Amino acid sequence: ASLLNAIEMAPRDPILGITEAFNADKNPNKINLGVGVYNDDNGKLPLLECVRKAEVLLAEKLSPRGYLPIDGLAAYDKAVQELVFGADSAVVKEKRAVTAQAIGGTGALKLGADFLKRFAPNAQVWISDPSWENHRALFESAGFVVNNYPYYDAATRGVNFSGMLDTLNSIPSGSIVLLHACCHNPTGADLTDAQWAQVIEVVLKRGLIPFLDMAYQGFGDGIESDGKVVRQFAEAGGPVFVSNSFSKSFSLYGERVGALSIVAVSAEEAARVLSQLKRVIRTNYSNPPIHGGQVVATALATPELRALWEQELADMRVRIRDMRQAFVQKLKEQAPAHNFDFVIQQRGMFSYSGLTKEQVNRLRDEYSIYAIDTGRICVAALNTRNIDYVVGAIAKVI
Ligand code: PMP
Repeated sequence: ASLLNAIEMAPRDPILGITEAFNADKNPNKINLGVGVYNDDNGKLPLLECVRKAEVLLAEKLSPRGYLPIDGLAAYDKAVQELVFGADSAVVKEKRAVTAQAIGGTGALKLGADFLKRFAPNAQVWISDPSWENHRALFESAGFVVNNYPYYDAATRGVNFSGMLDTLNSIPSGSIVLLHACCHNPTGADLTDAQWAQVIEVVLKRGLIPFLDMAYQGFGDGIESDGKVVRQFAEAGGPVFVSNSFSKSFSLYGERVGALSIVAVSAEEAARVLSQLKRVIRTNYSNPPIHGGQVVATALATPELRALWEQELADMRVRIRDMRQAFVQKLKEQAPAHNFDFVIQQRGMFSYSGLTKEQVNRLRDEYSIYAIDTGRICVAALNTRNIDYVVGAIAKVI
């Protein structure tokens, strides 16, 4: 037998598998609530106006395409760092944070995982139960043992906070704890400010290594408010790892724009950290691509475009929240025996709707509405045209 002949078929990606089934469906009313992409009220992926204008500015002064530095475009790293930690923050002013452009949020997580494997090889990783499914796979493929801390409580449709805290209090010091900074994927259930304060306290007291994943800044309560936790962790002192992504907030999914930031305790420590982070990048993909980073850096650093971006992001956030309200209101009318009020409390693109696997199957088979087996739906795929159809179908299957 040859090497390749012995290779087994890998399991299909569960979410992309749903999209494949959706694409093959001939029903003109079909709706894909599975994939985590923001669509506008016409059901279309938007090209943000701030992106179009940044592209025009860039096209007017096209430049040659040499290699970027290993850690990416300097203007991008600076703009991202100021966005994530605040331009006036002590970490930025004292040069205690390093930020490297990454291939999307996924690439940022991968850089962080590879970096941590070099310098904390025996630590184990703890992710929420449930979490974005790639978190586990990504840290496992970097060589870590990955465990779950309790998170979602199906009974209350909220967070099992005491369970989470108990676990954080009992895992070995030096463990890596992956936290969703805002807009938890997949549940939509976030911690309150008071709960975050307790988490920060435990992380510090126990010497845990916090890794904040911020893929949806601006989709919860606003750019500032969603980023607050990251700033609080940074102020509390290093080490702190932060991956962030502009895939959603700039609707730039295919450009792969994200970053990894690491907070150190001094500028001198930060310089050593950056030198080692560059080695991780160099042996991975050498240096990142130029275009997406230029678009985001231009939009963030040009006041007019920055204001436009903040407005467009706010519009996306408000549209999703309007859809949450409409969803709950319409279900109240059509399925008064069921309470969906929790959907309004949830934040971000997703909702753990409470639909069972059987109900999700019926939605797909009878109505061509595609959701995830766990009951996760993407609220950002609802719009004023399809919401009545979706609510009507849900009312029939529950
Ligand atoms: N983290 C979370 C929680 C996500 O939901 C996603 C995207 N679905 C990512 C990271 C990765 O983002 P990107 O598409 O920029 O790689």
